[in-house]
Amino acid sequence: MRIVVPAGGIGGARFLRGLRAVLADRADSHGNEPSITVIGNTGDDITLFGLRICPDLDTVMYTLGGGINESQGWGRADETFVVKEELLSYGMQPTWFGLGDRDVATHIVRSQMMAAGYSLSAVTEALCDRWRPGVRLLPMTDDRVETHVLVEDGEGRRAIHFQEWWIRHRATLSASEIVLVGAEDAEPAPGVLEEIAEADVVLLPPSNPVVSIGSVLNVPGIRQALQDATVVGVSPIIGGTAVRGMADACLAAINVESTARAVAEHYGPDLLDGWLVDEADADTQVKGIDVRSRPLYMSDADSTAAIARAALDLALELKGRQS
Ligand code: GDP
Ligand code: CA
Repeated sequence: MRIVVPAGGIGGARFLRGLRAVLADRADSHGNEPSITVIGNTGDDITLFGLRICPDLDTVMYTLGGGINESQGWGRADETFVVKEELLSYGMQPTWFGLGDRDVATHIVRSQMMAAGYSLSAVTEALCDRWRPGVRLLPMTDDRVETHVLVEDGEGRRAIHFQEWWIRHRATLSASEIVLVGAEDAEPAPGVLEEIAEADVVLLPPSNPVVSIGSVLNVPGIRQALQDATVVGVSPIIGGTAVRGMADACLAAINVESTARAVAEHYGPDLLDGWLVDEADADTQVKGIDVRSRPLYMSDADSTAAIARAALDLALELKGRQS
């Protein structure tokens, strides 16, 4: 069985860890586990201090590879911040990005390989050689795209990088538009469309529907390819709020309500076959989409695995019905 998962960072990575646990029990008679291919969001990527940083790819890689800071959800475990302090002493900007010493090594390897002409996919594969995440991790595109946010404050109306809005301003500056700059000219990375075409099922984790999954869908060709697959999503909205994180600020910027139903309608029945909502949203109905309810809070390994199992089982059920 082949499973494709478009994913952002924290929410995506936690769901993937649950999915991997579920699949470990589902090896076939030859002992082959089903395969997972992750299509990682690169819209959050940024160049700082000459280093190319890919927060979502790294979060997936560190989480599945056992190197993540568990309580924080991003960055390395046992991290120190000496480089960051030294940069600060030189008065280097920006100061709002949490750049850890261990993490810097990853960015140095990536930047050096990219300067030598390697594609982001090739670099990601090389980094995963160390971390062995147990999934095939593909960037959504090898082309440079960046999510920018149109904000307005005392300094006027301007577009800032998503990371500046998210981390520096904690998404409190009101945003009127969110744009994946460079998307029109971007192509899916090698393997992305092929993996989708060969997938038995596609699962959308509870990642940010706008700046994580939304960015993946904005790469020309990907959304269309996914429409032909059996797709089941896990709602990132529980009882009208974005549990953990600030996804509601992103939804507000694109005029989508923070409800499980509105997010499903935003993805649309042409994309989604099934939608898992929390028990708090059990009365949710969406035209053209099979909605099921169950607890959706990823509180620990077991509850997260149970969510992944439910998503996979619903997808297999819907696929069986279609074929
Ligand atoms: P990313 O989009 O995968 O990078 O991860 P984020 O953590 O930035 O965003 C994920 C979104 O998923 C959050 O904004 C929440 O709306 C949602 N989320 C976070 N934790 C949970 C959870 O335990 N269960 C569900 N259903 N959604 C969650
Ligand atoms: Ca993200």
